[in-house]
Amino acid sequence: MFPVGKCPKCEKVVTNPQIEQVETGSKLSGPLYRGINITCQHCHTIIGSAIDPIWLQKRIVDELLDAMGIAPRKRR
Ligand SMILES: [Zn+2]
Repeated sequence: MFPVGKCPKCEKVVTNPQIEQVETGSKLSGPLYRGINITCQHCHTIIGSAIDPIWLQKRIVDELLDAMGIAPRKRR
């Protein structure tokens, strides 16, 4: 199956979306989270944003281990 989704700005087919890491939230309004922006590889328009799923997975595992009294492993 070939990608057919088009960028809403340049209208080219986005076959290789780029992922940029960003911080979300504000030090004044609450905690900072790592996020990602998914951008068009042609014109760099942001076509999606989300909390960084890898960062979120690590936080959930660390909090579960902490709740169970187990120290999280050191990670690279
Ligand atoms: Zn584009």
